[in-house]
Amino acid sequence: MLDALSDRLQNTFRRLGSSGRIGEKELDEALREVRVALLEADVNFKVVRDFVARVREQALGQEVLKSITPGQQVIGIVHQELINTLGGEQAQLLKADAGPTKILIVGTKGSGKTTLAGRLALRAKNEGGRPLLISTDFERVAASEQLQVLGASIEVPVYAEEKEAPAVEVARRGIAEAKRQNATMVIVDTVGAVALDDDTADALAALADEVDPTEVLIVVDSMTGQEAVTLAKEFHEALEGTGIVVTKVDSDSRGGAVLSVREVTGLPIKLITTGERLEALEEFHPDRFASRVLGMGDVVTLVEKARASMGERDVETVAKRMRSGQFDLEDFLAQMEQLKSMGPLGGLLDMLPGAGALKSRLGGVDFNDGFFRQSEAIVRSMTLAERRNPELLNGSRRRRVAKGSGTTPADVNRLLNQFKDARKLMQAMSTGKGAGGFMRMLGM
Ligand code: GDP
Ligand code: MG
Repeated sequence: MLDALSDRLQNTFRRLGSSGRIGEKELDEALREVRVALLEADVNFKVVRDFVARVREQALGQEVLKSITPGQQVIGIVHQELINTLGGEQAQLLKADAGPTKILIVGTKGSGKTTLAGRLALRAKNEGGRPLLISTDFERVAASEQLQVLGASIEVPVYAEEKEAPAVEVARRGIAEAKRQNATMVIVDTVGAVALDDDTADALAALADEVDPTEVLIVVDSMTGQEAVTLAKEFHEALEGTGIVVTKVDSDSRGGAVLSVREVTGLPIKLITTGERLEALEEFHPDRFASRVLGMGDVVTLVEKARASMGERDVETVAKRMRSGQFDLEDFLAQMEQLKSMGPLGGLLDMLPGAGALKSRLGGVDFNDGFFRQSEAIVRSMTLAERRNPELLNGSRRRRVAKGSGTTPADVNRLLNQFKDARKLMQAMSTGKGAGGFMRMLGM
């Protein structure tokens, strides 16, 4: 996600930055390109209009045009205004003062509500809470079954009823069950709406009255773009939402929903989901997301992911080897395994500064399991000496390795080039340049 937008913005600013001085005319030209880039990313046109106006006003007001590096300063303003557009501060999930925290999840069909219910339950459980999931969806066959399977997989109890009954009644009985179980969190999953007609709105409002939720989360599927944003606004008007969750941020959507929904609804984005796995739930940080939009990378999230997926010790060992330049093909293989467990590599690369360039250097490689298997086979066909010292691999050795691993010499060359790129990247990181002190942030 965001590749196209972020590439366009970077190109625009690169041009701005290279001219020693810019006048009002150059500024307006750049802002016109920013405007087009945002519109093409499917950002709401009013949001775009206000955004560009704010940036322009500030750029002129701060006498940017007299400064030595106007490009940098304009980027700074754009960055800050993006943060504002995205809500400024990070918004936390609310907690009930007394009794269990009750979360009502609403949104369109297929937007990821049921999956979100499971994600929130898993997180609450991992934090030592006692969540209970309630299914009030009878419309789709096997809808409550889906929630029950999810609950069973994370060992969280699910309240569901066999026979169809009004959502309000099911919720009432479910909440009574939560009291009996002394649950600390109740998560109510609802039937999806396609459009919010009066009947649907009334039914949801009645459900909200019954549940008396601490938090009403409106789920917005980033794939559906502005349509989802408009509907989120209607949900909010009918139900008084308390927060937005944008799902499928891992998808190749253009980013418009994330960039618009805060301004259009007035509600903060509290969480985003970035994959089908239940663990793929992230807090939403406006500043980090703004950095990603501008291709400045989101190293903080990357490091958090790395920490969560590797043990502290692994991080330290690998970091040591990187610093001392001992990083070899065996480490490379181990790293790829780690990356695999951190989720899709494309998503990780998006978090690195200048990721666009890196991605194209990696040559559009499909980082799927097949790729990992092939790389592993190639490395396993090398002698220990070759793995430790890849420089030994001359033409005839490469041919031997290709034969042994059932690949071609071109495959072997490609892997070795990727290894060299990875090593270069790591050196840049460990010297604190490339990724803004990646290693320092790992606490080394
Ligand atoms: P609901 O109809 O709103 O309850 O939606 P579901 O929770 O059943 O999800 C619909 C589909 O979207 C399922 O196949 C989910 O696996 C998928 N999905 C949900 N969230 C994400 C996400 O963040 N990323 C991706 N790629 N898929 C997701
Ligand atoms: Mg569902």
